[in-house]
Amino acid sequence: MWTPIAEEAERAARVLHPSGQGMPRPAQCRIMTIANQKGGVGKTTSAVNLAAALTSYGMRVLVVDLDPQGNASTALAVEHTSGTASVYECLLGEIGLTDAAVPSTQSPDLLCVPATIDLAGAEIELVSMVAREQRLQQALSHQVLDSMDLDYVLVDCPPSLGLLTVNALVAAEEVLIPIQCEYYALEGLGQLLNNIELVRAHLNPRLHVSTILLTMYDGRTKLADQVTSEVRQHFGERVLRTVIPRSVKVSEAPGFGQTILAYDPGSRGAMSYLDAAKEIVEDQRRVESRR
Ligand code: ADP
Ligand code: MG
Repeated sequence: MWTPIAEEAERAARVLHPSGQGMPRPAQCRIMTIANQKGGVGKTTSAVNLAAALTSYGMRVLVVDLDPQGNASTALAVEHTSGTASVYECLLGEIGLTDAAVPSTQSPDLLCVPATIDLAGAEIELVSMVAREQRLQQALSHQVLDSMDLDYVLVDCPPSLGLLTVNALVAAEEVLIPIQCEYYALEGLGQLLNNIELVRAHLNPRLHVSTILLTMYDGRTKLADQVTSEVRQHFGERVLRTVIPRSVKVSEAPGFGQTILAYDPGSRGAMSYLDAAKEIVEDQRRVESRR
């Protein structure tokens, strides 16, 4: 009989020995910006947990924390008190990305460029600078990515469409939009897509929305299913089949400076992020076979 404990043990075994291990690393480093100007939709949670999941598949991953609140840095237990070498100094061009990137406690292959509260001023300070939209792109040059031997860079955006998010959109080729399975989930999405289109037209022709991730899915509500089918209708294939369930464990993990994979490897939350990451890796295979 399939008991809940047996089910959990099976899930834990899958996390500890992921079937996707040995999945091919992408030919080129993939830079994905995780954006949605709404707060609390699961950007940061998805950034750190997808990064951890990708690492478990043998990838080398950098999370760039671009939110002055520094939640991604907290979740990865990376020091981010004011004055710490951070993404802020990288944007100003004072230091290189390699000077600010630190390995997380989770894995030496999961790195983070932290955000300190100093970044809060950047939105205004950048306005008067030359190449103000290209600052992150310059920091993430091919040479730097190669020297750090990275397979994935995930940029965690603040909940706004200001210059920081524009920098993230200019630096990336792919956008991943997390959508919360809740009321008003689609509200504001048009504005985000508009901004992406503007950046694509004027600053970064390669930019595209490659991935939509449904988060905080609560199977007990009809609403969650309505949102899910509406999003699938609208975005089709780009919506990952995997949906992230609402789970207390997922929300507890950052309080311990851990990803859900470290905090509770047998949980549904951990499994779902592993499955989502696998889809993202497989998507790359499709992209490469089309080339
Ligand atoms: P954002 O970065 O978009 O503002 P967060 O990732 O910080 O959103 O998530 C907002 C809140 O929801 C946080 O408290 C987080 O812990 C919680 N949360 C995120 N994903 C889940 C989930 N799958 N289940 C339960 N809580 C979640
Ligand atoms: Mg966040």
